[in-house]
Formats: sequence, C-alpha cells, structure tokens
Amino acid sequence: MAPKTVWLDGEFLSYAQAGIPPLSHSIAYASTIYEGMRSYSGHIFMLSDHLVRLRKSAAIFMHSVLYSDDQLAEICYELLKRNMLNDGYVKILVFYDDGDNSFAARNCSSRVLVAALPAPIVRPVEKWKLVISSWRRPPPNCHPYGAKTSSTYALSFLSHRPRPSWADDVLFLCTEGKVCEASGSNIFFVKGKKLVTPTTATALAGITRQLVIDQLAKKCGFDVEIRDVDADEIALFDGAFLCGTAVEIKEVGQIGDVLFAESNISTKLSEALAAAVRSESERAAFIADA
Ligand code: PMP
Repeated sequence: MAPKTVWLDGEFLSYAQAGIPPLSHSIAYASTIYEGMRSYSGHIFMLSDHLVRLRKSAAIFMHSVLYSDDQLAEICYELLKRNMLNDGYVKILVFYDDGDNSFAARNCSSRVLVAALPAPIVRPVEKWKLVISSWRRPPPNCHPYGAKTSSTYALSFLSHRPRPSWADDVLFLCTEGKVCEASGSNIFFVKGKKLVTPTTATALAGITRQLVIDQLAKKCGFDVEIRDVDADEIALFDGAFLCGTAVEIKEVGQIGDVLFAESNISTKLSEALAAAVRSESERAAFIADA
C-alpha cells in the first residue's frame, strides 16, 4: 500500500509527487542502500543502531547523506504522524539519481527518501518451514555484505520465484555449503543451552541478531556461539529460529528434510524482545518528559 506522505530530500510530498527519475542509477545498477525500522506504539525501536548501519552502508556505496541523525530521526517520527501510524515500518532509502547513465555514476547525486508504511505482514504460521535455496550466496569478496543494499535482494527475489508452496521462506548457503541466512532475516540454531549463529561473512549484520547475542540470549539462559555452520550440521541441532526487524523472532520447524521438535525457545525470546521494546519505549518517554 502506498503511503500518503513521504519525505524526499528536504520536502514532505504526497507519494504521487515524489517522482523519481526513471533512469536513476540505482534502478538500473542496484546501488541503493537502505534501512527498515519498526515503530511500536509510536516509538522507533533501535533507531540509533539503524542509523549507524545506514552510515556504514552509505560509506561502502560512497553515498553522501547530507542530513544528521537527529534530522533523519525527526523526519521518521514526523512521517509516522502524517501517515497516522503508531505501529509501522519506516524505511530510509539512499539512492543515486540520473546524473549519469553509466554504471560508474560519476555525476550522480545521492538522494534520500523516507517513507512510513504499515507494519509488515509476515506469514502467520507458528513454525516456519524453510527450503534451501538453489541460489548460493557469493563469497565475501564478491558481494558487499557490510552494506544493507538493494543488490542483496536480487537473490532473495529470485529464491522466492518459484518457492515450493510448503515453504514459508528460504535458507541460503554460500558456495562452500555453509549456512548464511534466510531471505530477509538471520538464523540461529539451538543446541541444548547454546545458540549457534553463522558469522556475518555472507550475511547481513542484523540489528535483531546483535540484540539476541548481546542481551536476549542471556536473559533466556543461553550462551551464544558465532561460527560457521555446515549444511550437514543442520540435522544435529535441536531447533532453529529466524530474527529480524520485520519477522521479529520466528521459530523454524523444518529446514529441507530436517524436522525440529517443538521448543519454547522462540516464545521465550519473543517475550524477551517485547520486553526490550517496552523498556526502550519507556526510557524514551521518560527522557522526553524530563
Ligand atoms: N538479513 C537480511 C537479508 C535482511 O533483509 C534482514 C532484515 N533487515 C536481516 C537479515 C535482519 O536484520 P535486522 O535485524 O537489522 O532487521
């Protein structure tokens, strides 16, 4: 659904007014970087972490973002208000315009678009089934994994077309047969009291993943191990879950032929995530009132 109002390079515009040049470099050459953030009851969760990642992605793609973090934060909140959204999904996209029609983009300028959308609708099944994608993720020296960039999603898009009807999402392996991540979220495996998650060599450094590592796992009584996970190992784990801004925490019941038994770890982690959202919102409200 199109938002009523968006923000483009300094102006609040209706969606229809925000005409983006059809020959923009980023449309043809996948040079957009972006962030997707979640607002809960009007509070944008982990906004500053998303802005840090936006700057990192911008640096990798040599974008200049001329707006400060405070300005971007203000625009995000203003858009939530103008679009009458409390629980929403806010996107900041930085893309190259049509200053030049070659991939080198020497005369292109970075443009910044911010949009507030309704909260994402994720498949409402309790335990997701993952199919292993026939597309493999390229090695780290063949793709800029340090950036959250539109180019990553070429494989996400292709891996869903077609995707078997029984599967809720796909799991990517790299060319060496190691687990990377799902099409729009990171993965953790469960083994006893330990969570195991792949490195970010061929996966996005997810903000939710980092929150699980830094805080949520401990709150739920788990240690975390970050290491390569071979596809052959999947069957040896007790369970798995996905995490990300849109999917939050999603238990995985099946990966390919491997079925995982019922576990309550994802429920516990979902509760821990909800508590983290509440406590950050309360802290922000306290600071605003002080
Ligand atoms: N991996 C991919 C490919 C993603 O698109 C996302 C969603 N942004 C994630 C992981 C999870 O990242 P985050 O927790 O920052 O949303």
